[in-house]
Amino acid sequence: MSTKPIHIIGGGLAGSEAAWQVASAGVPVILHEMRGVRGTDAHKTDGLAELVCSNSFRSDDAETNAVGLLHAEMRLAGSLIMSAGDANQVPAGGALAVDRDGFSNAVTARLEAHPLISIVREEITGLPPEDWDQTIIATGPLTAPSLAEAIAASTGADALAFFDAIAPIIHFDSIDMNVCWFQSRYDKVGPGGTGKDYINCPMDKEQYDAFVQALLDGQKAEFKEWEGTPYFDGCLPIEVMAERGRETLRHGPMKPMGLTNAHNPTVKAYAVVQLRQDNALGTLYNMVGFQTKLKHGEQVNVLRMIPGLENAEFARLGGLHRNTYLNSPTLLDPTLQLTSRPGLRFAGQITGCEGYVESAAIGLLAGRFAAAQRLGQQISTPPVTTAFGALLNHITGGHIVSDDEPGKRSFQPMNVNFGLFPVMEAPKVEGKRLRGKEKTVAKKKAMTARALVDCRAWLGLAPAAQAAE
Ligand SMILES: Cc1cc2nc3c(=O)[nH]c(=O)nc-3n(C[C@H](O)[C@H](O)[C@H](O)COP(=O)(O)OP(=O)(O)OC[C@H]3O[C@@H](n4cnc5c(N)ncnc54)[C@H](O)[C@@H]3O)c2cc1C
Repeated sequence: MSTKPIHIIGGGLAGSEAAWQVASAGVPVILHEMRGVRGTDAHKTDGLAELVCSNSFRSDDAETNAVGLLHAEMRLAGSLIMSAGDANQVPAGGALAVDRDGFSNAVTARLEAHPLISIVREEITGLPPEDWDQTIIATGPLTAPSLAEAIAASTGADALAFFDAIAPIIHFDSIDMNVCWFQSRYDKVGPGGTGKDYINCPMDKEQYDAFVQALLDGQKAEFKEWEGTPYFDGCLPIEVMAERGRETLRHGPMKPMGLTNAHNPTVKAYAVVQLRQDNALGTLYNMVGFQTKLKHGEQVNVLRMIPGLENAEFARLGGLHRNTYLNSPTLLDPTLQLTSRPGLRFAGQITGCEGYVESAAIGLLAGRFAAAQRLGQQISTPPVTTAFGALLNHITGGHIVSDDEPGKRSFQPMNVNFGLFPVMEAPKVEGKRLRGKEKTVAKKKAMTARALVDCRAWLGLAPAAQAAE
């Protein structure tokens, strides 16, 4: 009996990997890619898995770097993107950088040569027809407008963000809680809250003036020509607010009202920066109302002027760019399936991950889930202790959707990072607790070792020591 094909829309990083995984499971694939018929504002070729900007897959260090760990897990899972990347590597220190044409050509050739994969060059202009009972949409941040509109119409008007401002996100353990304190404005408890839901960073007048000046002086990222979309007023970057007047921020996201400094209750702060918990694990906090288009290096310097954030480590920096992505935590089930339309999955950057490697990883998972479903097998999702599971959990369940700012989309695309993993204590060395950098490195090594053991088990592979024999 022949198996019905799975349709994949979009042959970018995610769609190519998804197609490979589905076909590797023995299920036929029809991959629909519009380039060749219609281009995008960023792609330059008709090649599958084209890298639109940098040629880097970032760090390849699987011991102390979260994206390096994701590389390792993808290699274990037989990733096409990783094997084509490895085969087309160019020197880049500890990073995995690739010859972009060689890489894209290799992916295209291997997909074209696979007997179970058919590639159709066409634009899909609406939701898949009902007889495509299993489909993966992997059309990326530059999804063609008519399909984007159809997805928006079916998932709810504000579910698909067409353009967004992004505020930075900080690792909790890099925030100095001897300076900052937990408190909600006016101790408001709110739905599901405790009255202590925000971290507050106080500023005196001198610090505030210096901060505003640094914002005004800081170098801003230029918009690309194709990013002509205006930002909307409720979501202005902090440096644009600063340009409107020195006091604007103090009356906006930095207002000090309703807050009492727990470390210094008799002195009223002149301004306060608030951070809100960003993930269920409580390891990440986002800067409330702090969307910015300052250049990344500049952003780190300016934001570290904020009292309590002098040593802040950023899980992601702010930015302002066109980005088509779903409000996935409210729309997708844990297997990336649209809850309102079983059989329709999403993969890649459109689900709210960010980066080439993360997009391909989510394509890999969507492909495996769809193939298992087609073959009537139980779908097993990766444990949250793995990079696969941590990223998937961020997209489909780990993120806290903000109740107090219903007008804003609080779910933000993110690269994989250690803040998405369950916390692990750094192991002691000879009975002694480690400190500083040594402690951070030991903690990361413990997390990556746990991840690789759990990933092998999830994939049904023998433990590493046994496999090496
Ligand atoms: C300008 C820009 C610069 C970026 N720079 C970087 C960077 O330097 N590093 C990094 O890691 N990430 C970068 N990104 C993010 C990067 O795009 C993603 O990480 C990655 O490409 C997303 O993979 P994807 O498969 O989800 O989407 P894509 O790789 O964009 O693939 C989507 C595919 O779907 C096709 N498609 C779209 N609509 C339709 C349709 N209706 N019918 C059929 N096919 C369709 C497109 O042609 C495309 O081939 C950048 C993004 C942009 C927009």
